[in-house]
Amino acid sequence: MPSHIQPFDQRLEGKTEWDSPMFRLAQEQFLRAARIMDLDENIRDRLLFPQRSLTVSFPCRRDEYSEVETVFGYRVQHVLTMGPTKGGIRYHEDVNLGEVSALAMWMTWKCALMQLPFGGAKGGVRIDPKQLSRPELQRLTRRFTMEIISMIGPDRDIPAPDMGTDAQTMAWIMDTYSQQVGYAVPEIVTGKPVVLGGSHGREEATGRGLVYLVCEAASHLGMDLGKSTAVVQGFGNVGHNTVRFLTEHGVKIVAVSDVSTGLYNPMGLEFTSLRDHVAEHGVLKGYGGAEEVSNTELLEIPCDILAPCALQNQITSRNAANIKCRLLAEGANGPTSLEADQILQDQGVFVLPDILGNAGGVTVSYFEWVQDTQNFSWSLEEINDRLHKIMGAAFRRTLLRSQRDQLDMRTAALIEGIGRVAEAKLLRGLFP
Ligand code: NAD
Repeated sequence: MPSHIQPFDQRLEGKTEWDSPMFRLAQEQFLRAARIMDLDENIRDRLLFPQRSLTVSFPCRRDEYSEVETVFGYRVQHVLTMGPTKGGIRYHEDVNLGEVSALAMWMTWKCALMQLPFGGAKGGVRIDPKQLSRPELQRLTRRFTMEIISMIGPDRDIPAPDMGTDAQTMAWIMDTYSQQVGYAVPEIVTGKPVVLGGSHGREEATGRGLVYLVCEAASHLGMDLGKSTAVVQGFGNVGHNTVRFLTEHGVKIVAVSDVSTGLYNPMGLEFTSLRDHVAEHGVLKGYGGAEEVSNTELLEIPCDILAPCALQNQITSRNAANIKCRLLAEGANGPTSLEADQILQDQGVFVLPDILGNAGGVTVSYFEWVQDTQNFSWSLEEINDRLHKIMGAAFRRTLLRSQRDQLDMRTAALIEGIGRVAEAKLLRGLFP
């Protein structure tokens, strides 16, 4: 090996720009799957790091005119082989390059697993959006869009909402981009309001998709959802829609949480009153009729279905042995560590891994992009019907591989996704 090329192992030992605990988790999951599937070593090395990463710092003027804050932002494109890249933008105080890169890598496997014509990307800004006023958020979003504008585009890289961002954020990105080119470009983002070219059903798609999978898993495991209980961590976009659709299937929600508190009631919590409380107060705290529990306690409550729908790194070697569910339905990205995975497997927990579990969001984002590029709109029934079929097919492909090759569901899902990307890379060949 030429002396200027770092040996492969050294590149994994915290010596790269992307290094962070979350990026290491994504790499370790990938390498484990690569070993099992005997992936070509050149392809493996190529997929271990993102193809493009942009770090920006930019000023954000607070409402109080004298204050200008310097904030950091990121956009990372993991794989450019499959088509345009696709991935959300996250606003959170802990966002860093490694976290965004891990999320971009997972997006690659997710899109490939769902057979969507995208590579993975992700973006983020390191701020706490709850501390910013609406005008401040708008200024920040527009300036961040300008900072990454050379990287994004409807045929290049299409952002979407993630933690801390929503349809309004996407509307500001769409407007900023459109102002630059001089005409409306709805297909620059997905997850925008329907009146701007957003898709019916996109807002609730991640939670809806997760519950479609829960139904598939329940019938595979012989579980009666009408007699099942669930605990859901997070009550944002993914969490509250998961509670909503589980409730519609007769599942009893015994505990929910958000950043403010956890709520436990073995008799069941009612979705509409939780939703109304959050609409009025912003958070779950203060909701009567339930015992308050910490987020740590919440995860250990006995239940049939546990759905982590908030943050990464929630189920680790510290608490995995205390998890008492039959089905782990991952709405969040990266909620389970590698060590915890093994413990859960030994306990016989059936896992719907994140790249499958929360893929409903990017699937309806794909529908939105297709509708925008064709100037055509599908009905909610058509969207839900197509989503149902795609989620069901991905579940069956993953389950089949897991049974045939004696693999856990996460490894099976990863191998499905990685195999497709590796095949595409080999077919496209090496330039120059
Ligand atoms: P969101 O900002 O709408 O909601 C996040 C929720 O998590 C809020 O209820 C918040 O209070 C809660 N939370 C924050 N910190 C917490 C803590 N320490 N303990 C408990 N709860 C906490 O975000 P979202 O869009 O629902 O995203 C949640 C997860 O789902 C993320 O991992 C995201 O990457 C993933 N995801 C989202 C989508 C989507 O379409 N929005 C798609 C795929 C994956």
